[in-house]
Amino acid sequence: MKTLGHWIGGKAVESVSGNAAPVYNPATGAQPTQVSLASTEEVDAAVDAAKQAYADWSQSSLAKRTAFLFKYRELLDAHRDEIAALITSEHGKVHSDALGEVARGMEILELACGIPEKLKGELSTQVSTRVDVASIRQPLGVVAGITPFNFPGMVPMWMFPLAIACGNTFILKPSEKDPSAPYRLVELAAEAGLPDGVLNVVNGDKVAVDRLLSHPDVAAVSFVGSTPIAKYIQSEAVAHGKRVQALGGAKNHMLVLPDADLDFAADNAINAAYGSAGERCMAVSVVVAVGDTGDELVSKIADRAHKLRIGPGDDPSSEMGPLITREHRDKVASYVDGARDQGADVVVDGTGYSVDGHEDGFFLGVSLLDKVSTDMDAYQDEIFGPVLCVVRAETYDEGIRLINSSRWGNGTAIFTRDGGAARRFQLEVEAGMVGVNVPIPVPVGHHSFGGWKDSLFGDLHIYGNDGIAFYTRGKVITTRWPDPADGGGINLGFPTSS
Ligand code: NAD
Repeated sequence: MKTLGHWIGGKAVESVSGNAAPVYNPATGAQPTQVSLASTEEVDAAVDAAKQAYADWSQSSLAKRTAFLFKYRELLDAHRDEIAALITSEHGKVHSDALGEVARGMEILELACGIPEKLKGELSTQVSTRVDVASIRQPLGVVAGITPFNFPGMVPMWMFPLAIACGNTFILKPSEKDPSAPYRLVELAAEAGLPDGVLNVVNGDKVAVDRLLSHPDVAAVSFVGSTPIAKYIQSEAVAHGKRVQALGGAKNHMLVLPDADLDFAADNAINAAYGSAGERCMAVSVVVAVGDTGDELVSKIADRAHKLRIGPGDDPSSEMGPLITREHRDKVASYVDGARDQGADVVVDGTGYSVDGHEDGFFLGVSLLDKVSTDMDAYQDEIFGPVLCVVRAETYDEGIRLINSSRWGNGTAIFTRDGGAARRFQLEVEAGMVGVNVPIPVPVGHHSFGGWKDSLFGDLHIYGNDGIAFYTRGKVITTRWPDPADGGGINLGFPTSS
């Protein structure tokens, strides 16, 4: 069995903590790898390496940083397939989906390649006689990123390319469930010429996370994961004086108005609910069917759901792969049974599903629950699996009230042909990312990603301009170069412009 350790100071480092966690291939149930779980001393070693590297890296020219970023982009481009295969082997998602994940992560790297433009600052001349003011942004120091299992390649790339482009050094703590793809991303950065210590990986669990949160030399923490842990990360990081952005879980609603093209809406509901086996923070997990659309829409979604091909992610004919672990698969399945007991119509039941030749894999079929009410557990909780709930609403107003009552506010979408209704929705809905006839409105790299309410703790969204603001701090420099003809003189009054 392979053991994955850490990457500290530009090289692979074997762990001596004595603790490790299993890493499964979800399609087979086999455990080909274990991942080391760092001790606090191992985290300290990574922070030391990053702190040492910061002295030079933060002073490096933008030309040097971008030379690396462009080279890294070319190298990743050549390794897309390999990274995607690693993602599939430990996460389970199908290869084409994993390739999409790599591409969406590389968008942020491409944004980072343009960092000189983003960091060029502002200058006002002659704000007072012979006085100029410049606003510049500088790096923070050592920053840490803690990432979830569901996008082992993309979410780390939401963070470290921009963080290091801004002159910080970085410590990545990936999910212990699928750590090989992020580790490979960091190895390739070294191959592209990144100086030792600028980008480090500590694998681990709560012990490693807690040390990153309390370490005095970690200036900021980016976190993406579930809501309870995001809340914890934010409060701990703030208590230790760190800047923090902590993105949490979600329950994303798709509102379908009576004038919508129901075939188009059904296709999109299927893609957004069951893609990546529903293990996406931007998955559609609730369809709100307005007016008399419910019966026809449910029947169209059900027809499509029955035809989905579920199988191993490395089989090109599979459209959906397994779930991340056996325990998670069983928990997701329990929501289907629970919803039936609580009075929902189980229109498609994906429980008890198995794939021939892969009986030990963590497979689950897709489920469609109709006539779900907001007090049911399947509605209240983030299930994070291939279970789509349909809630009926009489009117647009009832639909939007329902969406805005959710404790989450990550993504949402409206399906309609009515521009006025769509415009009203985008202004009224309480969510950070809104799609109009787009079911998974994940912003492109040069716009920022982030939810509202329990989907994000902190002030700044991730990547885009917010990402650059997060990984830098502002400084304003007021300069006066007196003309030799100027006299000096004493004046104890507060300086004003003249
Ligand atoms: P998770 O919260 O269990 O784990 C995320 C990270 O936190 C991992 O690195 C893990 O090791 C660490 N962690 C777990 N428990 C911890 C604890 N008690 N103390 C300290 N650290 C801990 O999330 P997950 O299951 O890996 O990922 C799925 C969740 O992430 C879902 O809720 C999903 O909605 C969310 N997610 C959100 C976004 C977003 O952008 N809002 C994106 C992707 C995933």
